[in-house]
Amino acid sequence: MAARGVSKLGKVSVYDSVEPPTCISCGKPVNPSERAVSFYCPNCGVMLLWRCNKCRTQMITYKCPNCGFEGP
Ligand SMILES: [Zn+2]
Ligand SMILES: [Zn+2]
Repeated sequence: MAARGVSKLGKVSVYDSVEPPTCISCGKPVNPSERAVSFYCPNCGVMLLWRCNKCRTQMITYKCPNCGFEGP
């Protein structure tokens, strides 16, 4: 049951290649199978930040690319 995608619709957009979210702390792609968390920046509320399980458990700090807010 892997019937996803709409290849017959001609318009190919950038969104076709879905990139995995990257961890805001370590910059690595977040594996969908791991228990990553996503949250909006507590300061600006604009950026959706992803954090991998490792950085979350190790309390690695992150920095919002939009407002520069740094948090644990
Ligand atoms: Zn990480
Ligand atoms: Zn922010």
